[in-house]
Amino acid sequence: MSIPAIEGRSGFALPAVGLGTYSLDGNAGTDAIVEAIALGYRLLDSAFNYENEGAVGAAVRRSSVARDELLVTSKLPGRHHRYDDAITTIEESVLRTGLDYLDIYLIHWPNPLEDQYVEAWRALIESRDRGLIRHIGVSNFLPEHIERLRAETGELPALNQIELHPYFPQTEQVAYHEANGIITEAWSPLGRGTDLLANPVIAAVAAEHGVTSAQAILAWHVRVGALPIPKSRSLERQRENLDVFDIALSDEDMARIGSLARPDGRLANQDPSLYQEF
Ligand code: NDP
Repeated sequence: MSIPAIEGRSGFALPAVGLGTYSLDGNAGTDAIVEAIALGYRLLDSAFNYENEGAVGAAVRRSSVARDELLVTSKLPGRHHRYDDAITTIEESVLRTGLDYLDIYLIHWPNPLEDQYVEAWRALIESRDRGLIRHIGVSNFLPEHIERLRAETGELPALNQIELHPYFPQTEQVAYHEANGIITEAWSPLGRGTDLLANPVIAAVAAEHGVTSAQAILAWHVRVGALPIPKSRSLERQRENLDVFDIALSDEDMARIGSLARPDGRLANQDPSLYQEF
């Protein structure tokens, strides 16, 4: 299945859907990721803290798809934001994958109370300039954090991976990204096993289009201009989650799904201005 592209700044583009990999680890995780690549996934998400950079790297090495057609992402944990520490952690991420380089590296959380994310950003810039990673971005950064990166280093992230689903659409944050050519990646796009998939409004829209609830939600992401990274260990659901680009949601469908938004629709109360993840 071929996947359309989503475009950021200066010609940077990504496949418009990727594979989440949280909990896809060990040999079973590698098998699931190899299957996903065979189905057509090209963008793979991972993180130092998921303890599965090894499984993701093994899948890339085992897959019959050429290395340069795949995009491997990992993320820097909060406990390693100090510059020297961040440099070593990025090297360690690359070593764990068994690959020569990673395509995308993100700062996992800003941890603003610690206030070391600008230092971490300088380490990402340096690691990219050394060729260890190709593109640099952030995750869970609010506009104020991104503006500090711009002011202090002159460099904006290529993408920001944030919590984004119909309960928490983050309209202003997405508009800020768009105005700055930053690709919005959506984590927990399907609500991570909460009641979102069973929501009656979603189920009704899905039934009218003859698709599943998961597909209706992912088609909503495509229409709001975000890149979802659904995770599934099932081949059937991985396939379903790729097959969303021909679903034409109407403005009325978008308004109905939009009505599910909650002022704080976060799944786990992880407000990036307060939340600390190490
Ligand atoms: P998702 O919203 O992707 O939901 C995953 C759950 O939905 C799993 O239980 C999966 O089960 C199920 N599922 C997947 N596809 C379908 C389908 N078509 N129909 C029914 N059920 C389905 O949650 P995640 O929290 O995993 O988010 C996705 C990815 O985002 C993560 O894996 C991780 O890579 C990233 N992430 C990043 C964060 C950050 O701070 N940057 C935070 C959280 C996540 P099954 O596997 O059995 O199919």
